[in-house]
Amino acid sequence: MTPRRTRLVRVADLQQFRHAIIWLCEHAPQPTVVLVPTSAARSQFERTWQAAASRSDAPAPLARPPVPTVVTRDELYELLHRRLPNAPPRLGPFERRALTLAAAARAAASAADGTLDTGDRARSDAGGRPPFTARPGLVAEMFRFYDELRRQSRRIDRFQELIEEALGGARSTDSGIDRTLAQTRLLAEAFREYERRVVASGRCDEHSLRERLLETPLAVPLSDVLVTVADWIAEPDGLFVSDFDLLARMPGVERVDMVCTEHLLGSGFHQRLHDWWPGLEEVEAGALMGARLSPSRRPLLETPADPPDRLWFTLRDRQEELTAVAQLIKAARRHAEVIPLDRVAIVFKKPLPYLYLADVTLGASGIPYTAYDRRPLASWPMVGAIDLVLEALETNCARAGLVALLRTPHFVPWNGAERPARPSLRAFDTTLRSAGYLGDRQALEAIERNWQAPRDRRALDEALAWVRALEPLTESLPASVLLHRLRELLAARLAPDPSAAAETGPDASIEPLQTGSASDTVLRLLAELADAHAAHDDPVWTPADLTAAVRALFEGQTFSEARQRGGVQLLDDRAARYGDFDDLTIVGLTDADWPERQPRNVFYPTGLLKALGWPLEHTRRSAADARFLDLLASPTRRVAVTTIALDDDAIAMPAVTLDEMPRARLSTLRTRTEVARLTAADALSAGAVRLDVLSDQALGWATLRLARTSPADPRFHGSLGSQPEQVWSVSALEVYLACPFKFYAQHVLHLEADEPDSDVMDPRQQGLFVHAVFQAFFERWNQLGGGTVTPASIDRARAVFTDVVDTAIAQLPPAEAGLERTRLLGSSAAGGLGEAVLRMEAERPVAVVERLLEHRLDGPVTLQVATESRTVRLRGKADRIDLLEDGTFRLIDYKLGRAPNRSRALQLPIYALAATERLSGRQGRSWSLGEAAYVAFKGPRRVIPLVPAGGDRTGVLAEAGARLTTVVDAIARGEFPPRPDDVYLCERCNYAAVCRKDYVGDV
Ligand code: SF4
Repeated sequence: MTPRRTRLVRVADLQQFRHAIIWLCEHAPQPTVVLVPTSAARSQFERTWQAAASRSDAPAPLARPPVPTVVTRDELYELLHRRLPNAPPRLGPFERRALTLAAAARAAASAADGTLDTGDRARSDAGGRPPFTARPGLVAEMFRFYDELRRQSRRIDRFQELIEEALGGARSTDSGIDRTLAQTRLLAEAFREYERRVVASGRCDEHSLRERLLETPLAVPLSDVLVTVADWIAEPDGLFVSDFDLLARMPGVERVDMVCTEHLLGSGFHQRLHDWWPGLEEVEAGALMGARLSPSRRPLLETPADPPDRLWFTLRDRQEELTAVAQLIKAARRHAEVIPLDRVAIVFKKPLPYLYLADVTLGASGIPYTAYDRRPLASWPMVGAIDLVLEALETNCARAGLVALLRTPHFVPWNGAERPARPSLRAFDTTLRSAGYLGDRQALEAIERNWQAPRDRRALDEALAWVRALEPLTESLPASVLLHRLRELLAARLAPDPSAAAETGPDASIEPLQTGSASDTVLRLLAELADAHAAHDDPVWTPADLTAAVRALFEGQTFSEARQRGGVQLLDDRAARYGDFDDLTIVGLTDADWPERQPRNVFYPTGLLKALGWPLEHTRRSAADARFLDLLASPTRRVAVTTIALDDDAIAMPAVTLDEMPRARLSTLRTRTEVARLTAADALSAGAVRLDVLSDQALGWATLRLARTSPADPRFHGSLGSQPEQVWSVSALEVYLACPFKFYAQHVLHLEADEPDSDVMDPRQQGLFVHAVFQAFFERWNQLGGGTVTPASIDRARAVFTDVVDTAIAQLPPAEAGLERTRLLGSSAAGGLGEAVLRMEAERPVAVVERLLEHRLDGPVTLQVATESRTVRLRGKADRIDLLEDGTFRLIDYKLGRAPNRSRALQLPIYALAATERLSGRQGRSWSLGEAAYVAFKGPRRVIPLVPAGGDRTGVLAEAGARLTTVVDAIARGEFPPRPDDVYLCERCNYAAVCRKDYVGDV
């Protein structure tokens, strides 16, 4: 073994940490490889390296070594693999995934056929079925656990032994223990099978590479290694036991230095480090560097003015956190303080949503910034478009997904045709909805057969082309075949590639997993996954397996984005350790983010994991607290910490880490409370409008807006002045009572309602359908001479009604037909609307002599208002009027929902008054109101009388008359304020998009 020196360089804080790392690189006898946690940390290291060149104690430029090789843990293995002579090729992630799926499936098959002994209990629990299903998500967890075991230098046999020892032996009479033992045997068998398959593939993975590295010297030795990360217990990207072992034993390594802060060493890492590197030398950075180690400068901790003892700020949400930093920078500039922006940092634990919010806060304030982090590939718009293809596949090309697919600009139309225009797509959508299209090629072809020749059919052709193109993906086939088919489809359809830069803006330089455009990246990933399955394991997939695998493929990928504009640095807490800053704000201190959560092991409880060498939670917690304390003292001038009250509109809890802040022993500085106006929006909305700071375009708009009518003008509040006289329907006047502005939008402006996008009938269509069914029933019943429905004839009436309903629902799509049948005919749990109507009549003794269905009541109605009588012209249609033998009439109104509140209802009482006038003389006699009732489908009762038993019918009718004249007069005066009778109406209002709801309550 090569003799080597392993040395711990102890530093007091992160300022010394950075200084010591640079010094060690500058003074290493050989070029050094520096281990950092992430690529963002490497970027910060490189900035610090550049900045250090100008220090007075830096070596002369010619004497200074070149920038060291800075690598993350994964990159270290890549580098070692490249230098290893005759190394077998490394397994790529997709190949490895294919091997793990195959290994898990093989282990499951062995358990099923009894080759693998999982114990009697596991077999009897499974009841003849395979005791384990190799679902991709579970297999991913299994092999995450496998990697952890191997990285902690655990061999598979030893893992099984340790679990069996901890459980008291390989056999048990306890059913829980027995199942855990069976699971352990199954996991161990899957892991062994995977290792056999790796050997058979002639390739290597990280673990087999490590074994070779311990035996074979590198072609170009790695003599000097500088480790700046701790272990996996102390930080998320830390080294594992096997990595420490590799550095301690790998041939050719001569010097290994570890630089670590006192806080982190004190959290338990110091002891662990000595366990892994026996014979470790220790040295203080001061002793090593002497006077060249400058003393650290303690930053001031900025604290809120109120409450006085609080050490952190609580802001509303994450956007406000970034806005507060922008405020601070602007306020400092006003006071002529010079803050070099590239020495200001915003530090988070998780990059999203801060990376998205940076543009609307810092960017909108004219503050340049640089973001260092990797973003999910799924955030590319093109990946969103591909998701529409997967959705179409899953839903058998249902309407909403299919139309969305036609809308996206990321696909070119088939055969070079012209892209369907928006109006054409809207019309096509409406056609599909009216035809009750719920997906399926044959249903779409049926629509094509009925397509009327002159109509624009570009959207239909495009939709048919998609449906037919997706058909080859609906079969169950080997994974590689389905993936290649999908890839070919996308390759033919993805629009000429917007360059990677265009995907996120011209000033962004994006580096996908490898250089190339977005579509190249996506197609390459699909090809790699297909090839990996073809080479190593090619299970038969259903379309659902395909869509799940492709989504998982994209979700697992990230790309790095570095906006090269200088300015404020946005970075995570791991990278921040390597950056030299004056001013640092740590944001997002919520319970969900700080300290970071470790992924839960789904196989074993904490007690058993401890037997395998897993750390206890409090050990991790103390390391996380130590890193936070290091970070607090990291800048040279000022530090602030913020948490939030709301995270995505959910209440956020402050992180327990905040309680550690006093341990940093920083002097505090109470914040200035002044607020700067940051953005053009602030200049327009906060305080007096400032035009001088606006761009030309914004200035033009602002000037136009300032010249407009004052918002205090009554017209802004729905007051239009007198309106021409018009005859209104009673139902329209009921809309006015619900909300005057809704009436205005619907009945005066005749705006198209913003209907909900649904594949089933909306409430209005349902209402029309139910009315049509009752009309059809009574017409049929009359034709059959049914007369009054009585207890004797009710069964016959039920049969006729059922027949009518079945005929009507035959026109509806099957799913909707079932719903409507239940609504009308009821179910075993509740009676339907038809039963309520038939029983209502059968329970009443007086016979019906005539039925008036959907009966128009247009014309003047005389209303008694106070002591005056007044005539109003109206339009209206009663759902049903039954003329009874005793000279009275019964007025029925069907309601699909609940009956209206009596104090607001208009239709039934006004129809009652109108019918009394209109029916006079019918059949040579006069008719008086006997009964008026709603038949309502919702609510506790089906039949609700207009006037309750013992109620004052005259009073009810007079009140309705007064209400109606008030409404008619308000309309004549042109009063249409947005004033809903109940604010909940706004939630499902079809005119919300055109309504100034913010005025509700002001008027
Ligand atoms: S959104 Fe509310 S206030 Fe506006 S029209 Fe609808 S119900 Fe009236």
